[in-house]
Amino acid sequence: MRTVLRHATIVTMNPSREIKEEHDLLIENDRIAKIAPGITSDHADIDTTLECRGKIIIPGLISAHSHLTGMFQRGLWDENTFEEWFSNSNAVEKRLNFSPEDIYTIHCAGCIEFIRHGVTTVLNMFTVSPGSKLEKVASSCNAILDSGLRGILAVSLTPNDNANVFEPANPASLLDFARGAAKHVAGLNSRLGFMLAPSAPQRCSDQFLISCGKLAADFDLGMHTHLAETKLHAETARSIYGEPMVTHLKRIGFLNSKLAMAHCIWLEDEEIDLLAENDVKVVHNPACNMKLGDGVPQVKKMLQKGISVGLGSDSANAGTVYSVFEQMKLAVLLPRVTWDRENWLLPADAFEMGCLGGAKVVLQDERLGSIEEGKKADLVILNPSTSLSPMNNLISQLVLCENGNSVETVFVDGRAVMLEKQIQTVDEAKIIAQLSSFRTSISEAYKDVLEKKATKP
Ligand SMILES: [Zn+2]
Repeated sequence: MRTVLRHATIVTMNPSREIKEEHDLLIENDRIAKIAPGITSDHADIDTTLECRGKIIIPGLISAHSHLTGMFQRGLWDENTFEEWFSNSNAVEKRLNFSPEDIYTIHCAGCIEFIRHGVTTVLNMFTVSPGSKLEKVASSCNAILDSGLRGILAVSLTPNDNANVFEPANPASLLDFARGAAKHVAGLNSRLGFMLAPSAPQRCSDQFLISCGKLAADFDLGMHTHLAETKLHAETARSIYGEPMVTHLKRIGFLNSKLAMAHCIWLEDEEIDLLAENDVKVVHNPACNMKLGDGVPQVKKMLQKGISVGLGSDSANAGTVYSVFEQMKLAVLLPRVTWDRENWLLPADAFEMGCLGGAKVVLQDERLGSIEEGKKADLVILNPSTSLSPMNNLISQLVLCENGNSVETVFVDGRAVMLEKQIQTVDEAKIIAQLSSFRTSISEAYKDVLEKKATKP
C-alpha cells in the first residue's frame, strides 16, 4: 500500500528540526518511506495521492498521560479542589460501575476527540477497582484499536483504601490482575502497548511499589504513575519518610529509565536531580494542574537537566479537552504567571514535548515523534485556518494559536483514521449518541454522591 502526500510543508522534527517546503512524503504500508520533492513521477505504483499544497504536515501528537474514562464526568466537580475532586469523581465512577460495553463507548468517544485534535498516540491510565473484570481492560483495548489510534494501556492499581473510595483489597490479587491484563494486551496488535501503573507512590505501600517494579522487570514493561500532584502530597511524604518522595523512591529502588511520572509539581531540586540521574521521564499536564489548583511544575529546569518531558491531557474530568494543542499552549503560558523569565518555556520547547518528548515517555522514540524516513507513518495534515495565517512563525503559531480546528486528515500506522475531517474508523454519531444516553444515570450517581456527603457526620 503506497500513499503520496504531495507539495506539503513538512515540520519534520528531525535532528536539525527542518521544516521542508513543497516536499512530497511517501507512505509505504505503516512507514514513512521517503521525503523529497517530486516523488510522484518516480513511482508508477502509487495507490493514493493526496494534494497537500498550502497544507502543513506535523508529526502525530502524543498525549503521554490521559484517563479516557474521565470523559463521562465532563462538567462535574468544577468547583472542587484536587482532594475533593479525587474523592468525588472516584465515588461517582464507582457508583456507576460501568459495564464493559459502556467503557468501550466512553473510551471510543475520548479517542475520537483525540484524533480530531491531531493526537495519534494516547497513554490511557485506566483505573481498575478491586474485583474488576478483565473484560473492562479488553473494552479499553478494543476502543483504542477500533478508533485507529496507537495506544498504551497503563493499568492503574491502587491497593490502599484511600479516601474511603476504594474497597480494601489484597495487593496480590491486584498484581495477578495486572499480570492477566499484560498477557491480554501482549500480541493483541502492534499499535497497542502495556504499562504497569501503580496509581501514585503516596497511595501505595513500599512493598507494593517494589512488587510492581519486580513484575515490570519480569515482563519487561514500562511503568507509569502520578507524583507530587499537590503540596499536601509532598509535605505528607516528607513527614512519613523524613525525606522527599523521590529520594525515598530512589532508596527503595523504584527509579529507572522505563518509569514515567505525571505532574511532578512539588519537587525539590535534589528530586529533579535524581529524576535526571535515573533517566525517569516526566509528563506535564498544565490544564489539569491549573483547573485543580495544583501548582506550577519547574518544567524548564527539568528540560535543562536533560529530563525527557512529554505532555498529557490528563482527564476530561479535570476540566480539559483531549487535545495536545491545548497543553502545548498552556505549557508556554503557565510558567509566565509564576516564574521569572529564565524559567519560561518557549513555543519550540512545547512543540517538542508534544511530539518527541511524548514519544520518549512512552518509550517509542525510535519509531514515533518525528517525520523521518523509516519511522511510523503517524502524521497530521493541517489545512491552515486563520490561526496559521499569515504564517510568520509556524511553530509559534501551531503552539499558541492553533486549537485543532485546522486538523484535516490524520494517519496512524500509515492508515487514514480521519480523512478530510471525516472519522474513517468508527461510527462517530452513534458513539456520541450512546455517550449522551448515559446522562440520566450519571446525574443520579452525582446526586447520590452529593447527598451522601451532606449526610456524613
Ligand atoms: Zn492522571
